[in-house]
Amino acid sequence: MNILAVDIGGTSIKMCLVDSKGQSSVFKEIDSEAMQGGQHLVDNLLKSIEATYSGFEAIGISTASQVNGEEGTIIYANENFPGYTGMNVKAIFEDKFGVPVKVENDVNAAALGEKYFGAGRNFKDFLCLTYGTGIGGAIVIDSTVYKGMNSCAGEFGHIMLHPGGEKCNCGCVGCYEMYGSTTALVRKALELDSKYDNGRKIFEGLDQGDTRLEKVLNDWVLEVAYGLVSLVHIFNPPAIIIGGGVMEQQKLVASVAAKVQELTISSFSDVQIIKATLGNKAGLLGAASLHLSK
Ligand SMILES: [Zn+2]
Repeated sequence: MNILAVDIGGTSIKMCLVDSKGQSSVFKEIDSEAMQGGQHLVDNLLKSIEATYSGFEAIGISTASQVNGEEGTIIYANENFPGYTGMNVKAIFEDKFGVPVKVENDVNAAALGEKYFGAGRNFKDFLCLTYGTGIGGAIVIDSTVYKGMNSCAGEFGHIMLHPGGEKCNCGCVGCYEMYGSTTALVRKALELDSKYDNGRKIFEGLDQGDTRLEKVLNDWVLEVAYGLVSLVHIFNPPAIIIGGGVMEQQKLVASVAAKVQELTISSFSDVQIIKATLGNKAGLLGAASLHLSK
């Protein structure tokens, strides 16, 4: 099957064709101009697809925001996507192109991408976490994303890790992502030196021998592990796939895995902590895999 995959993010929309083996071609990227509203974003995208693509048999859409995958509607979009909430994206694209359309939240889609084309290929059950500005999560059970009653399951970033701690955007305090996200790592490194304003610079600093960063990194790895250990004890999963910017570094994933092993009850400790393999293609391959999953 030739699938048109679309990955809608806050700054850009990526598109490509994907066949059933996961081979992708005809890449295109446009600005999402999300701040101009959901209708503008969708109209622009429809025009852009018409101008470039034809002959596809299905469309898979991975999008930022909370999604009702059955209906293909946007349940909730944040203030970066005004007017996107409530749009029936599936119906709009099916009316326009006359092919089956599936829509899913970007984190869930990326987890399915890993299931069909990446690090999750050998597992029916696994958890997927992405460490970036926040911490995204997805639960894959029997090769399907478990979504919960309101399609909100897997918000691992808001596990309350430190009651009475840092205030989170969600309104709670002490959430996992306030301590384990890349943003949290950068915040701690910035207290040492204003030059460490992103993850890449922190790892360059470590490579150049700035030993002050070692404690910052070790403390952060411990926070990352704390969240994962709770998940291991709840789900007893065979694997947890972790990804997102700084987690591209195999040695970092290895140190997180070692810490999780150390802190986990021994009967759970055969869990494998593995690196996501699709990188920035996860959204597109995940969108395509919506037509491959049950
Ligand atoms: Zn929170």
